[in-house]
Amino acid sequence: MREISAEERQRQQDFIHKIYEENQRSGRALKAFVETYGCQQNVSDSEKLKGMLADMGYSFCDSAQEADLILYNTCAVRENAELKVFGNLGALKHLKRKRPDLIIGVCGCMMQQEHIAEQIRKKYSHVDMVFGTHALYRLPEILDGVLRHGRVIDIREEEGSIAEGIHYVRDALPLAKIPIMYGCNNFCTYCIVPYVRGRERSRTAENILEEVRSVAAQGYKEVMLLGQNVNSYGNDLESGLSFAQLLREVCRVEGIERVRFMTSHPKDLSDELIAAMAEEEKICKQLHLPLQSGSDEILKKMNRKYTVAEYMEKIRKVKAAMPDIVLTTDIIIGFPGETVADVEGTLNVLREVEYDTIFSFIYSKRVGTPAATMPDVMTAEEKHEQFDRLLEVQNEISYRKNEQYFDRTVSVLVEGGSKNDPETMSGRTEGGKIVNFKADSSLVGKIVDVKITQTRTWSLYGELIEKE
Ligand code: SF4
Repeated sequence: MREISAEERQRQQDFIHKIYEENQRSGRALKAFVETYGCQQNVSDSEKLKGMLADMGYSFCDSAQEADLILYNTCAVRENAELKVFGNLGALKHLKRKRPDLIIGVCGCMMQQEHIAEQIRKKYSHVDMVFGTHALYRLPEILDGVLRHGRVIDIREEEGSIAEGIHYVRDALPLAKIPIMYGCNNFCTYCIVPYVRGRERSRTAENILEEVRSVAAQGYKEVMLLGQNVNSYGNDLESGLSFAQLLREVCRVEGIERVRFMTSHPKDLSDELIAAMAEEEKICKQLHLPLQSGSDEILKKMNRKYTVAEYMEKIRKVKAAMPDIVLTTDIIIGFPGETVADVEGTLNVLREVEYDTIFSFIYSKRVGTPAATMPDVMTAEEKHEQFDRLLEVQNEISYRKNEQYFDRTVSVLVEGGSKNDPETMSGRTEGGKIVNFKADSSLVGKIVDVKITQTRTWSLYGELIEKE
């Protein structure tokens, strides 16, 4: 584990003050537009990027057109997200021509890949700042370089570090995302994450708990503990504190009423963690446990380090300890070598586990990963057919699972109003299900009881139960 040094933190703070002072002197009300692609970890990184920008005097706007600084925080997990970033960057060429002092930046996982950074360097000369995940905390220094000398490309081969002490501009109440570890050691053969995020490194429990106490004091009721492989938290720490122990400590923080975590690896789902989830009232009875495939042969090729039988054994334990748990998973269709019979195995697991929701994707080739050179069996058309079959099976299960909520009263943490109807509030159950109901916005951030009167495949509708 390597935290950035106090000197380095001070250096970045000095750049922040310098830019802030200059912005104040210019008298301009500068605006930034930050767009985030990908996972919750990236969303959390963007909250830090925004924190640094706010400290440098920027406020935020909702469109690139109005902005003085545009920053794309990118994702490298699937090709679609990459294409979108290139498309957006291309479209900014004209804007930059019209407004040469507009600053355009692109950062995050995509930029940690050499061939992508090279493509930006050569073909997108209107982009002013390019920096990878390991350099996020250096945004103030990078921006200073752009303001003084022009284009900065900060892609260094370095071990990932942990940058503590950065101010966040968080999403609105009531849910705060708290990264507890970074990186991944698993090297699933399809995944680019270990290459762009580096090896696992856990934050200390003291730093995490201090942050949880701080968000509780700001009024956040729910925390989501984040990590690419969150349940291997602590393996690299000398303290010996396990993830389950950390969760129990987070539950002790006054003001926090719900605790969630993302994303768990099945091999690291310990009996100790299942017990903590079952015993601690504040830990939401929801588990996202990526299966990826229901075929042992494909799991082996994916380097997932478990068999279907081992996965199912964990699911049995989880259900025995928490019969009402909401289970969700990730599935990849069309991994190299996958056959229709392999997909049948996946469908069988879906039918047996009865997940509430699945997040499914057609395999996307990632340059530099072992799977990128493995031969395919199915054609693109066959993959799409199998993908549709998967959705058909799951949609029926999801609908049936939601039907079970009819006439039940559930606790909902109210997140905000619906865009189309300000009199409708939306929130989540402990299991993460979206519930819509008529109420006013004074309930945002509160936990209320709602009786479910209508169920759909992806959401629930109900009536607020007024307390006496
Ligand atoms: S566990 Fe596998 S899929 Fe998840 S981030 Fe690590 S390498 Fe990628």
